[in-house]
Amino acid sequence: MSLDCIFCKIANKEINTNLIYEDENVVAFNDLNPQAPTHFLVIPKKHYASLNEINEKGEFENIFSAVPKVCAKLGIKEYRTVVNTGASAGQTVFHIHVHVMAGREFGWPAG
Ligand code: 5GP
Ligand code: ZN
Repeated sequence: MSLDCIFCKIANKEINTNLIYEDENVVAFNDLNPQAPTHFLVIPKKHYASLNEINEKGEFENIFSAVPKVCAKLGIKEYRTVVNTGASAGQTVFHIHVHVMAGREFGWPAG
């Protein structure tokens, strides 16, 4: 747990957020500023500042295996996943999170 981390606070339920999925290792919740009709984030309960800090193979599995589970729960079959790593890539919250967006067409390459 990182004391000033907003996503640690959400995962620890210090900030009241509607969780759309929770298991032993991860939580998922809707993004505050959605970029698509569906836009949620999957985060590990354990704090890692970014993808660069994860060196436990199991943690990748924990995070990414939750994505299709949440999508199935929401009835979503097609979606865009994004992991911004570092400020220049658009990362603003330094607790790793996977964006999952659906419900519209997505361009490629990503902007
Ligand atoms: P990043 O830019 O780091 O890849 O994504 C951070 C995301 O977290 C943004 O899409 C932003 O809207 C979302 N976000 C930031 N603070 C909060 C919050 O307190 N609650 C929720 N639900 N989303 C947040
Ligand atoms: Zn954190």
